[in-house]
Order: sequence, then C-alpha cells, then structure tokens
Amino acid sequence: MLTSEILIKKRDKNQLSESEIKYLVSGVVSGEVSEAQAAAFLMASSINGLNAKETAFLTHAMAESGTKLSFAHLGKPIIDKHSTGGVGDKVSLLIVPIISSCGILTPMISGRGLGHTGGTVDKLESIHGFNTMPDEAMMNQHLKENSGFIIGQSENIAPADKILYKLRDITGTVESVGLITASILSKKVAEGLDGLIMDIKFGNGAFMSTFDDAKILAKSMLNVATEMGLAMRILFSSMNQPLGKKVGNWLEIEEVEESLKGNCPDDLKEIAEFTCSSMLLLAKLASDRDSALSMVRGVWNSGLALDKFYSIIKSQGGDIDLSRKLYSNVEKFELKSTNSGFIDFINTRKIGLAAIHLGAGRKLATDTIDFSAGLEFKKKIGDRVESGETICIIQAKDQSVFPAALDILNESYSLSANPAQLAKSIIYEEWTN
Ligand code: URA
Repeated sequence: MLTSEILIKKRDKNQLSESEIKYLVSGVVSGEVSEAQAAAFLMASSINGLNAKETAFLTHAMAESGTKLSFAHLGKPIIDKHSTGGVGDKVSLLIVPIISSCGILTPMISGRGLGHTGGTVDKLESIHGFNTMPDEAMMNQHLKENSGFIIGQSENIAPADKILYKLRDITGTVESVGLITASILSKKVAEGLDGLIMDIKFGNGAFMSTFDDAKILAKSMLNVATEMGLAMRILFSSMNQPLGKKVGNWLEIEEVEESLKGNCPDDLKEIAEFTCSSMLLLAKLASDRDSALSMVRGVWNSGLALDKFYSIIKSQGGDIDLSRKLYSNVEKFELKSTNSGFIDFINTRKIGLAAIHLGAGRKLATDTIDFSAGLEFKKKIGDRVESGETICIIQAKDQSVFPAALDILNESYSLSANPAQLAKSIIYEEWTN
C-alpha cells in the first residue's frame, strides 16, 4: 500500500477500509508513516469526518498498537472514568481516591494538556517525585495497595494514540468526533476495563461547543464501546465556566486536597459525587442512585478518601509537602473589575488560553510547564462584583508572562445589571449502552 494513496482517498471523502486504517496506524508507530503524513491524515479526517465504520476500525487499530493490560486476577470490578477535557477539570484526581475507597479498582490512564484544556498527567507531575510511568508490576502493586492509580500513557499502551494525540494538539485537529472517540476508547480498551464512565463536556470551554455536538460524540462513543463489549455510562456536563475555583497544575492539586478535606466548590462536588455514584452503579456495587451517593458521601465525609489520596501519592513516589514548599514563592497579580454588576458570561476557552500564556500549558509540544502557574477565581457566573473588586488572581514564577495573559483575561468575561439565570445542575443527562 502507498500511504499517499490512502491520504488522497481520505482527502477526496472516500471511506477507508479496515486494512488501510491498520496500515496507517502501524506505520505511525513504526515510523514508516512520517509525521507529515500522519498530520495530513488527521487534518483530512477532521475536515471530512470519519464515519462509524472508520471510527471503529481506527479505535481497534490504535488499541491493538500496543500491549493490553489485565487486572482481572485481582477479582474486583475494574471501572474507569474519562473526560473529553475542560478548564479546571480536576474531577479524575478527586474521584480516584473516593471510588477506590468504595471497592472498585481504577487503573486510570490519563492524558496531558490538549488544546486549551489541562491534562491530568501534567497536574500529577506538579507533585514532586510523582511517577506517572510505573511498569506493569508496579501497577499491580498500586492496585493491591490502593485499589487505584493514575498514570500517563506509557510507550506500550495504545502507542499510536500517544503519537497522534501530540500531533493533534499542535495541528488544530482536536475537535473531531471520530478522532476523539478513537483516542479515548483505544486507551480504555487497552486497560482491560469492565466499564467506563465518560464525562462528555459541552460549552464554550469544551471541544464540543453545544449539547447537540456532545450528543453526536456520545453516539459515536456508545457505538464503538458496544461493538467492543465495553459497558459505558455517559454523562453530559456543562463547561461554560471553569470547574471549581482553580486552574493550573499545582493549584488544581491543592484544590483537590482542600475538597477532600471538606471544602469543595459546589460544581466540583456535584460532578464528583455523580460520577462516583455512576461508577458504583456500573460496577453493580450499589442498586440505586441514592445508595450509591450515600456510599460516596460516606467515604468522603469520613476522611477515608483523603487518606487514600495521600496514600496514592506516596505509593507513586510523590511528596506533596515538598511540592507545597517548592511552589510557595510565586508572583501574583489580582485582576480587578473596572465596573460593578453580576458576572453573566465567561469565555472558558480563553481562560484556558490565558493559563497557557501563564505557563500552565504548552504552546509547542516541546515546551516545559511552569507547574506553579495558573488562576484562582474569586468570582464566577452569577456572582456580584463591585468596581475595584478582585475577579481572579493570576500567578506564575515569572511575572513577565502576565501582560499576555491579562490581555486575554480582560476580554474573557462580561457583567450585566441582573444576575444570570444558572441551570440547576451542571449535569444535563446520562446515557448508557
Ligand atoms: N481525551 C483524550 O484522551 N483524547 C481526546 O481526543 C480528547 C480527550
């Protein structure tokens, strides 16, 4: 086969066969398909779309591009959760200690920042010493000790996704239903799961901007998951403002710790409790939503989940107290409102971009991250702000990055005379296969 012929076929809107997709994916991993050709495939696929068959072929080929894990011998339900990405989305970090305190095994493989969104692995790497790349023997040990771990994607697990994910981040090809489906499900299938909770975010800080777009992605994911025998529940959640109060790698670790101590922002609490309860339902460890929620609240309120959070960090080599010291010496600036009113709109994507300008994310794949960089919101949608009051505090180790971030931030919110009508819940619906 000739890679250029396959690219022409996709460019001209024709359906690729299973063998053509397998050929491309194995070539991406072996290096026989160059980065330029892989990027051309991504761009053609995101412009012309991948149909259901192509998406399933791509998911299979990517899952098969590396080793598959199996933890079935540990004899407990294996359930994971994944989000399509957002700003301030630290839910994974919060739910692993909670859910693994409830008798579920969670071998979570997470990603790095993608586009304007933050990545769970980058957040974890802000903890000094934290090992996001344990070998399989260590993964088994972590599951035996803690019932859960959070790691990055090693060279061996869905390596095709690892390569394509990085390329998508820098080629404007993130927002594609087929590519997102294959990227997420290939990793999840390789984890050997019994079930998966997908948090599909929609809104101005998500890759899917509307609820309708989110439903299209959900259908694509349910199709492929069902075909691959993976039980899945999908929840749709709004991403029209950052989740919680903090955005930035270390800041989000701090917010998770605070939340587990009982000081959790309402939106974060709602989504964490709902996600964990759905995991318990999927694992059949609870018979209905209320009993699932009371199990979740039990381990959260008793401090068991906080102990588990520290235990997971310690087992994976992290030193949270040393990290606290490392990031205590940062430059800060308060963004103050020039008017009075109620915050009625936040451009969440711009908040994510401002965080990148502060150093919390990468402009180029090779950039190093300033783990201390980020934003803390003092006001969110619906809150009253007086002229001169602080809306958010930005921070970084070097204040030379502040002007570029402030230029974006000044354009990323608006005020009105009356309070905005907020939806009762940030979770809109839940689907299951
Ligand atoms: N998370 C992933 O792992 N892949 C995507 O494409 C989007 C979010």
